[in-house]
This record gives sequence, C-alpha cells and structure tokens, in this order.
Amino acid sequence: MTSEAIKVNLAGLSLSKMQTFFTDLAEKPFRASQVMRWIHQRGVTDIQQMTDISKVLRDKLDQVAEIKLPLIVDEFHSSDGSQKWIVEIASGSRVETVFIPEADRGTLCISSQAGCSLDCSFCATGKQGFNSNLSVAEIVGQLWWANYKLGGFDSGNERPISNVVMMGMGEPLLNFDNVMDAVNIMMDDLAYGLSKRKVTISTSGVVPAIRKLKDFTDASLAISLHAPNDELRSQIMPVNRKYPIHELLEAVEEYMDSLADKRVPVIEYTLIAGINDHRQHARDLAKLLATFPCKINLIPFNPFSMSDFKKPSNSSISNFRQILLQAGFTVTVRTTRGDDIAAACGQLVGEVNDTTRRSSRHKARSQVLSNGKAPGASENLAVPAETIV
Ligand code: SAH
Ligand code: SF4
Repeated sequence: MTSEAIKVNLAGLSLSKMQTFFTDLAEKPFRASQVMRWIHQRGVTDIQQMTDISKVLRDKLDQVAEIKLPLIVDEFHSSDGSQKWIVEIASGSRVETVFIPEADRGTLCISSQAGCSLDCSFCATGKQGFNSNLSVAEIVGQLWWANYKLGGFDSGNERPISNVVMMGMGEPLLNFDNVMDAVNIMMDDLAYGLSKRKVTISTSGVVPAIRKLKDFTDASLAISLHAPNDELRSQIMPVNRKYPIHELLEAVEEYMDSLADKRVPVIEYTLIAGINDHRQHARDLAKLLATFPCKINLIPFNPFSMSDFKKPSNSSISNFRQILLQAGFTVTVRTTRGDDIAAACGQLVGEVNDTTRRSSRHKARSQVLSNGKAPGASENLAVPAETIV
C-alpha cells in the first residue's frame, strides 16, 4: 500500500521553525529567510519560482514541502472602501476577514477560530459554539490574501495593511500556539514587518493564557471588559465566572509591565441598551480603572438575529463617554461603516461545517432576515475604525 507523505506547509512556519526545518534537511538555516521573503513579501506560493534557490534544492523542497493557503470563497466590497472575504479552512468551515481603510492606516480584522466556545451573550460568533481552531497558515493566510487582493505584494506599492487586530471570529488565546506563531510571522521583518504596536490580540480574558503571553510575543493587547463589576460581567460573559475582573486586570498589568516599551492596553466596552450603558455603569467603570493605565474603546452593540439586545441611543453613548472623559480617560467610540457588506464586530458568523443546533437555528433565521443582503448579513461594519465622536 502506498501513502503519500504529508508535506510541511511552509506558509505556517515562523522563522525559527523554518530554520529548524532547513537544518533538519541538512540545509543552511539562511534558506529560511529566503523562503519567508518569497512567501510573505513577494506573495509567491510556487517553490519553483524561488529563483535564488538552486534547482536541486527547489526540487528537494517540492518533495517534502508545499505552500498552502486557505481558500477565498467569496468577497464583498463596501461603498466606503471596506472589504470582507469569506475564507474556507481545512475543516470545511468558513470564517471572515475584514479590511477597513482609513486616512492614516489600513486595518485588517482576522479570525482565529471557526466559532467560539465562550458564548458571550452579545456575540453572534459565540452563538455558533466552537467548531475548530485555525492553523498558523490559515491565520497568517488571511493577511497574505488581503495583502494580495489589495496589491500589497506588487513592488512599488505602498503597504495597504498597517494594522492587524485579532478581533474576528474566535478567542485568540484559546488557540494559543497557532496565534503566537501567526502574530510573530506578521511582525517578522522577513515577512510583513508589522510593528508590535500595530498587531493587537483581543481577548475576553483567558487569564492563564495572558499570564504566559510575555514568553511568546510582545504584541499589543485589547481586553473585552464590557461590564464594571463581576456580577454583570458574569451574566453577559460566562468566562468571567472562571476568571473574575481583578485577576484579569492583574494579569494584563503584568503583561504590559513586561514589555520593553511603554504601552497601555485597550479596554473594549460594548454598550448594550439597558444592560451596561447606564451613567452609573460609566462611573463604576471609571472607579474600577482609576489606577489602571489604559485607553477605552466604546463599541455600540451591533444587533444580530439571535439576540434581543439593542444598540443604545446616541445620547446615552455620548453620556457614557462624557463621564469617562471627565474622569480623565482617553475614550474612542467605534464608528459604524460598511452596512452594505455586513461585517460588524460580533456579527461575524461565517459558516461552521459541523453545525450545532444553535448555529443551524441561527442560520435559518438569518437567511429569512437577511433579505437578499450578503450571506451572514446584518447591520453594520464596526471593526476598529476608531473615531472620537
Ligand atoms: N474573542 C475575542 C476577539 C473577538 S470579538 C474577544 O472577545 O475579545 C472582538 C470584539 O467584538 C470583542 O470586544 C467583542 O466583545 C466585540 N463584540 C462581540 N459581539 C459584539 C456585538 N454584537 N456588537 C459589538 N461588539 C461585539
Ligand atoms: Fe468568543 Fe469573543 Fe464572541 Fe465572546 S466576544 S463569544 S470570546 S468571539
């Protein structure tokens, strides 16, 4: 019986793993730098096109390695320049990647898991349940594809993507090893060379993973807080029952202190009408964070079909913000964009292969409700186009 050996996917190797790969092949480790540049700076996926590598070595590589990216199965363009890609991963599930151009930057919002196990009550991804972790190549492949589609691999073009946020589908810190390798490839000068200040991991607060973060990366951090006390936070975010607020803030502070430069985390706070948007919540939040250096990003809740929650009125968003500003915080409010392509934070649903009951109910409803809009469509695009209103 013959079975074809499984090839190593070079698109998912960090520099150190690529160096080990070449050393194991009895080749010089500098080959790793060449291959990193070909894949991530020139967008080449055919080993035979790597012309500074000898034909003999290219043929040897072709025997044992490949460059395999996830598939793009659909794309949507918003009239405001935002774009969304539907990415099919090996498990057959589909996740979403969103690009938001602004005057001074281009931000890519990347998914780390198909579905999510943490079940936050305000999040469409959470309603699907967990399906699968993305591999390193599937995470970094979203950046590769967006860069390719936006002309970033063409020489002479300015780099279209300056910022990456792990704020798409899934909880990045529950796919720890793959996310670490992927962000380190994104920040590697031999690959995309993104600044550590411009690659942000967003987490709902998986404390043990935050505690070990400093040994693997120095990327920036955003914390999904969404409530000023444990009682309310545990109601809307089950993860808080395991890792309460004081433990979370302590772990974040420890991580920020470990960084070589001075940086503060972003506290994300999704404002949900009548749930966590009262003036008293703002005052309590100001008190909670009084001695915790951070920036606060308010995200007006983005509605979706499986949730009865509502977006607060503009005046209550403005009141909430005002209280925090008066308390001396830097506060941004996430703008709503691209309602014609449906890619809002918390609304990304993709499509899980092995559908749970939760997700099939959700899909049936959203198909009825989407009314000819894009698949998974709902209301707004509100990924991190931060604008002070
Ligand atoms: N799992 C990670 C990252 C993905 S969610 C996390 O929770 O941080 C990215 C951001 O979108 C989080 O701050 C999340 O709380 C927020 N979000 C989720 N659902 C939302 C919704 N319906 N409206 C607005 N923001 C939402
Ligand atoms: Fe998961 Fe983040 Fe959604 Fe919570 S908000 S369910 S952690 S993706």
